[in-house]
Amino acid sequence: MEFTDIDRFLEDFEHVVNMDSASGNNDGILKVAHFFQERFSRLGMACGIQLPGNGTVPCLKATLGDPPHDMMFLGHMDTVFPEGEAAHRPFALHDNRAWGPGVCDMKGGLLVALYALETLKKTGNLDNLSICVLFNGDEETGSTQSRPLIQETAKTCRRVLVFEPCRPDYHLVNQRKGGGWFHIDVIGKEAHAGADPHKGVNAVVELAHLVPLIQDLNDENLGTSAQVTVINGGDKINIIPSHARASVDVRILDPKEKQRVEAFFTRLSRKRLFEQSAIKVSGCIDRPPMAVTPQSLAIQDLIMAQAQKMGITMGAITTGGCSDGNLTASLGIPTIDGLGLVGANSHRTDEYVELESIPVMVTLISRVCRQLTNA
Ligand SMILES: [Zn+2]
Repeated sequence: MEFTDIDRFLEDFEHVVNMDSASGNNDGILKVAHFFQERFSRLGMACGIQLPGNGTVPCLKATLGDPPHDMMFLGHMDTVFPEGEAAHRPFALHDNRAWGPGVCDMKGGLLVALYALETLKKTGNLDNLSICVLFNGDEETGSTQSRPLIQETAKTCRRVLVFEPCRPDYHLVNQRKGGGWFHIDVIGKEAHAGADPHKGVNAVVELAHLVPLIQDLNDENLGTSAQVTVINGGDKINIIPSHARASVDVRILDPKEKQRVEAFFTRLSRKRLFEQSAIKVSGCIDRPPMAVTPQSLAIQDLIMAQAQKMGITMGAITTGGCSDGNLTASLGIPTIDGLGLVGANSHRTDEYVELESIPVMVTLISRVCRQLTNA
């Protein structure tokens, strides 16, 4: 079972990459969904567009066989690139790589999922498979609408394969940090900075005093990071500022850190420097970590053993970036990520994938599917 029709893959790749589908561009996302819907339908899969949450974000679900499914294929159709990007910087091939908006993150991965199933169909191995495919349309903005759909769907599957990019030199992703965003608003009191400073309450000074406390949350040994990434306050140079705001990006590796971090931010509103200021804190750790478990390691071993048979030595990495794999792993469903095309520079204009990884990943995933079905 080997995939060789690279030309056809590249034709589809160009077609899909040249459809703008930024998060929020739901018309564009729907076009991508229709492309995949047609192809999964041709494989005999039950297939439909779903609009979870507020009913605006297209998601594509395709199933074969009855639940519990042997596996779930998970990916996202949205990209971070705005409308017009594809016209301005269309799909291109050079230096043995493919370039264009979303080639790596993650339209290449969506095609790996499709082509693996098409390969199984061709060799008569698809009908034994019980599988559910879910492509959502709002991953890059935190899957706020599709999250319940992802989790409900995952609960009907024994394991999850996520098609975010494979990292250079064939490194899959077996562990992801979790995390969340916190916002701190400080309310002070305006006053003339020169004439009446004693009548004001300086919100910027109050906020500045909190920053080192937040910095102390960082703990490299535990894998926790807390970074103040945005800070705003004040308006005119001669007015004591009445308002200041900071935003904090927090990542955790140990699930227990959620409690410590959230407790810290709850207490922060009481750490005032000025009696008359008010500190409001919002946010939470809403993405649990994707942890390595004996069950996820077993899938990883199976994938790596298959790759080895093809002459590819795979590795595995941990990343601080979250994906929808965090959502499925946190339910206790074994999840392996990074099974898309090998590439790099996601979210940048120099994003690319390695063309040589196309036949490798398609063949590998189809073989893995066959083995997981028999397992
Ligand atoms: Zn992605």
